[in-house]
Amino acid sequence: MSKKILIVEDEIDITELVRIHLEDFGADIHLCNDGLMAMQLLESQDFDLLILDLSLPGLDGLEICDRVRRRDPFLPILMMTARVDEADRILGLEMGADDYLPKPFNVMELVARVRALFRRVDAMASPPVRPKTIIIDHLSIDVEKRDILVGGKTVLLTGKEFELLLHFSRTPGRVYSREQLLQSLWGPSYQGYEHTVNSHVNRLRAKIEPDPAQPHFIQTVWGVGYKFRDNAARRIL
Ligand code: CA
Repeated sequence: MSKKILIVEDEIDITELVRIHLEDFGADIHLCNDGLMAMQLLESQDFDLLILDLSLPGLDGLEICDRVRRRDPFLPILMMTARVDEADRILGLEMGADDYLPKPFNVMELVARVRALFRRVDAMASPPVRPKTIIIDHLSIDVEKRDILVGGKTVLLTGKEFELLLHFSRTPGRVYSREQLLQSLWGPSYQGYEHTVNSHVNRLRAKIEPDPAQPHFIQTVWGVGYKFRDNAARRIL
């Protein structure tokens, strides 16, 4: 599958040039020229790479970088800026960009950096993990048989409830918005509403949580969505 790249830059000449060259390289390119709109895109879709300019209308690149890092520690971020004095901050722990390109740049240099970033990401991705069973505290998920045990007792889930649980349990601690969950589990063409997600989460909680009013596994992140408990005892078999 082609890599999905979001380019956030308000200088149209630059975005067009970068888009043309990265499309040659087979990537699926999305453009955005405003910081606030970029944040909305990043909250509702998954990207494989974010190319981010520092100076933007709406919300600047550093702020976007910081917000993205809080939600997703793994999304590769390449920052572009004419403000060379900011390089240390951009690449440092403070902002956590993966690479940095001073402006003006040669577009071939940018393509080379993008290739290098993807090589690093692909090398870091472990060989396809196909766990048979995921055990989290007293919850056991048999991925192949689609069996769920809670405290040793079988719990029957619907197909969607199972997919939702599996989706969460694979990425403990990662916060998902309702929109992201709709996209991932029901598909982009699903004409659904966010309360579809709420009602599935509530039914799932009723089945797996010892006390659904105080969820142990699927936790609400106010104003954002849900996440799976990340400080649980976890074993993958
Ligand atoms: Ca700019």
